[in-house]
Amino acid sequence: MSEQKNHNDWSIAKAVEYYNIDGWGAGYFGVNNKGHLCVWPYGQPGPSIDMLDVIDEIHDKKLSLPCVVRFQDILRSRVQTLNQTFAKHISEMDYTGKYFGVYPIKVNQMREVVEEILDAGRDSHFGLEAGSKGELLPVLAYNDDPEALTICNGYKDEDFMRLAMLGRKLGRRVIVVIEKLSELPLLLRVAEEMQVEPLIGFRAKLSTPGAGKWVSSSGDFAKFGLTAPEIIEAVKILKDRGKEDALKLFHFHAGSQLTDIRSIKEAVKEGARIYAKLRKMGFNIEFFDVGGGLGVDYEGSNTTSHSSVNYTLDEYASDVVHNIQQICKDEGVAEPHIVSESGRAITAHHSCVIMSVFGSIQLGEDENQLNGTDTEVVLKMREVVAGLTPKNLQETFHDATALKEEALSMFKLGILGLEERAKIESLYWKLCRQIVQINSRRKRVPKDTAHLEVLIADQYLANFSLFQSAPDHWAFEQLFPVVPLERLDEQPLRESTIVDITCDSDGKIDQFIDQVTPRSTLALHELRPGESYHVGMFLLGAYQDIMGDMHNLFGRVNEVHVFCDDEDPEDFYLEEVIPGDNIADVLCRLQYFPSELVKTVKKSVDERIKSGAIKPKEGMTLIEFYEQVIKSYTYLETGRPRQTNLEIPAESLSNGLSSVELLRAR
Ligand SMILES: *Cc1c(COP(=O)(O)O)cnc(C)c1O
Repeated sequence: MSEQKNHNDWSIAKAVEYYNIDGWGAGYFGVNNKGHLCVWPYGQPGPSIDMLDVIDEIHDKKLSLPCVVRFQDILRSRVQTLNQTFAKHISEMDYTGKYFGVYPIKVNQMREVVEEILDAGRDSHFGLEAGSKGELLPVLAYNDDPEALTICNGYKDEDFMRLAMLGRKLGRRVIVVIEKLSELPLLLRVAEEMQVEPLIGFRAKLSTPGAGKWVSSSGDFAKFGLTAPEIIEAVKILKDRGKEDALKLFHFHAGSQLTDIRSIKEAVKEGARIYAKLRKMGFNIEFFDVGGGLGVDYEGSNTTSHSSVNYTLDEYASDVVHNIQQICKDEGVAEPHIVSESGRAITAHHSCVIMSVFGSIQLGEDENQLNGTDTEVVLKMREVVAGLTPKNLQETFHDATALKEEALSMFKLGILGLEERAKIESLYWKLCRQIVQINSRRKRVPKDTAHLEVLIADQYLANFSLFQSAPDHWAFEQLFPVVPLERLDEQPLRESTIVDITCDSDGKIDQFIDQVTPRSTLALHELRPGESYHVGMFLLGAYQDIMGDMHNLFGRVNEVHVFCDDEDPEDFYLEEVIPGDNIADVLCRLQYFPSELVKTVKKSVDERIKSGAIKPKEGMTLIEFYEQVIKSYTYLETGRPRQTNLEIPAESLSNGLSSVELLRAR
């Protein structure tokens, strides 16, 4: 952290090390011999893209920064790597099931992202997961491979069930996961009414706690899933109705960004036991779905810190396959196909945001450059600052702080001039800088002065909004790698924090990744007058570039402003009613056009009519219904009496990432 670095021993290799690019880059990022950050979209060796060329291209297209940059090929590479890794371990262990990945679209719902993933995974029958009605609409339109899975998670109302059964009518492998016992009779009734065979999954609440920041989606108190007694009850319902064959999938989800491989193994073991017991009760479950949770090493520290993971994709796949196999062997049951709902691990790497730094703020001036006389208090301050030694550091700091306060009181009383005040402050900041230098050579830093490092760091002003681009940094202190895109062959000498252009005091990055523990400043290059300087923030492809509001395609919530009124019989009135988004609004924002979606689904229905699988009249009803849901509100319809078993208020259904609430609370 010291400012006195040796200029001569800097190199590109040093830059790669300092910004820990190999740690978080997963082979996709590096520095070229021009000292520019570059991307290998297929990993190394392979073609590479210079980020500065990308910036030139952006300017050529008359676009301004900040700009989100997506590397579609990284997406493809992630999907292929995931499929190949599971396939490799399945083959090496002579496992008899196959791997069927599904992509949970809530992680990044952009049409271009979903299309790319499906296309890259076509050979492996990669499927999609939907957690809401809004998500199921595009999923039904896009996932048209009859072998690929469509998994429906999340709480479901009747429309959600009907949409899923519409998918069955189209001959798709749509599996409805029962998250809550009351969904089972509802599904069976809807399926019977629509005369279609449902494919059912059970989601279990495991007792194994996940490890990581989003663990609340697992454990006995999780919102979703069936407890052991509920599973027994669900089994009874299926048996009573003779629907044993409909149960096709067993599922659990231990949370996102699981940082510790041990908790993954434990969850798989517990889940596999439940699967085995269900098989022994006579259910021919084909799929074992381990949910999401495959993490990303944002820090590159390979630890269980919440922005890191202590395992690789290879280890993950190997442990999942191995543990399922062991338990199936032990219990003497068939090995199921393996499903994972890995979203973060597929999308995180493919997108970043590029911003330009347009200025910096440094505290204080050289006090000798300032006019004004050395009055008594200034002289005293000079004396205190001059007397600093490592031994009297604390004492000197306290004395100087007291003097600064005294000077401020004098200023308020009108007996100290502005220039004298400036001298006092500049001397004070000079002292702080010297203290930080002394501290940087120490193992243990005195508490009083520990905060000075951030306080005196330069502030680099970057043209972006942290809230907009990296809501999880903003809301959860999740770390994302930040790296200059140029001059990486030069030593960065300014210890800095980065502030954005919003008037928001939280629009500031003062936690940066490091090999071990996060640091509070990042070394950047001295700005040169008239020269541009660019910084990138990376690994933003999962959960970030769709705004918190768009989570699960719920969109904006309806809003009312309530005012108390004594004269009103109910003591209040509504001043303002602001309608929320309907599903079509939200879909359009993500470039899905309702008319296109209807056309695509209609085409599939027409084909089914032609082949005699469904009657024309029924086909028309299905289309009308699809259109009607598109026009409806994004949240669950809880008002209808038929669905009184859904007693959860709609606003609590936004699922694990409560970034929505956190963001909105501002
Ligand atoms: C969010 C979620 C996922 C995706 O998890 P990742 O950790 O991003 O892979 C998968 N399944 C369910 C049920 C989820 O809620």
